[in-house]
Amino acid sequence: MSDDDSSAAPRPAPNLVGMGRAELAAEMAGFGAEAFRARQLWHWIYHRGATDFADMTNLAKGFRERLAARYQLARPEVTRALASIDGTRKWLVRFADGQEVETVHIPESDRGTLCVSSQVGCTLNCTFCHTGTQRLVRNLGAAEIVGQIMVARDALGEWPSPPEGRQLTNIVLMGMGEPLYNYDNVAAAMKIVMDPEGLAVSRRKITLSTAGVVPMMARVGAELGVNLAVSLHAVTDELRDELVPLNRKYPVRALLDACRAYPGSSNARRITFEYVMLKGINDSPAEAKELVRLLRGIPAKVNLIPFNPWPGAPYECSGEAAIAAFSDIVFAAGYSAPVRTPRGRDISAACGQLKSDSVRERRSASAYYVRL
Ligand code: SAH
Repeated sequence: MSDDDSSAAPRPAPNLVGMGRAELAAEMAGFGAEAFRARQLWHWIYHRGATDFADMTNLAKGFRERLAARYQLARPEVTRALASIDGTRKWLVRFADGQEVETVHIPESDRGTLCVSSQVGCTLNCTFCHTGTQRLVRNLGAAEIVGQIMVARDALGEWPSPPEGRQLTNIVLMGMGEPLYNYDNVAAAMKIVMDPEGLAVSRRKITLSTAGVVPMMARVGAELGVNLAVSLHAVTDELRDELVPLNRKYPVRALLDACRAYPGSSNARRITFEYVMLKGINDSPAEAKELVRLLRGIPAKVNLIPFNPWPGAPYECSGEAAIAAFSDIVFAAGYSAPVRTPRGRDISAACGQLKSDSVRERRSASAYYVRL
């Protein structure tokens, strides 16, 4: 097939952003460039954050022009940016086909965590999660996942990749979507992100959260070595079937067995169990005791997440006393059980509030709004 086949629709120029090392090397070999050119490009794209071939000053001018004529260096577009009074930032990120996801940055005193989405929408339909009410769903490509980290770096002014003192130190795959229903793209993206000569975020600073896609869990540990978080939320199959319908496929016992077998977990690298606190639903002392019993033998920590409300949500957040009592029981059994302070609630950036379709929440008075 010839490149100038005028009957075919024009193909968009291939995007170098989002290519892994091997892919970029193969692409450059096909382009007739020497192998070290791929390494130079890698450095410009992922370490320096270049958005224009013209800036790549150690490449010959003619080569830069040939690259620019053939390839793109495209990021997704940030179409809206919100900042919470607590410093949390949320970006609405739009991809080439017009689909959007949300990406959230949560600054803390000792770290800054970026919450990254893996799908547009989500198929799991957990009853307490706003994302599950969004109709359209598709997987994000590796470039679209890495792109969220790159636009956050742009907004935070963190190029070249700072060796220390970063505002973006940690990544959690806890945004929209189920990462283990899009494993290949998530894995390709994380391999790019973890490369020490690029974005350079260590696997120890990356946490993948799953609602419990049991058959995929071992691969996460073996192939990526990142931290694992599991959205448990209930201690019986009866209740979990309702809250997290995926439980009907992979029940509590199978999920906990997969956690026990998770490669690389140890007392130094515990699995995080997320537990959303729903008033009168899953927050009794008896359930806290059962949770402790279930976790026996697993290097675990528990994150208690006060339920974040959204318009029309069928639940309320547990009361402070119930949350404290639950936390005390788990803590007394030897597990760390912090209650997660909700962050960015005023801009709907908190857990379970992300949603990117056109129905927009009313802007709250305490958040400011920037149209870009
Ligand atoms: N699908 C993956 C990744 C999403 S992580 C998973 O389920 O783990 C998002 C986390 O926020 C999950 O633990 C989810 O259960 C939790 N969550 C969802 N809705 C919430 C809400 N309204 N309030 C508090 N936490 C919520």
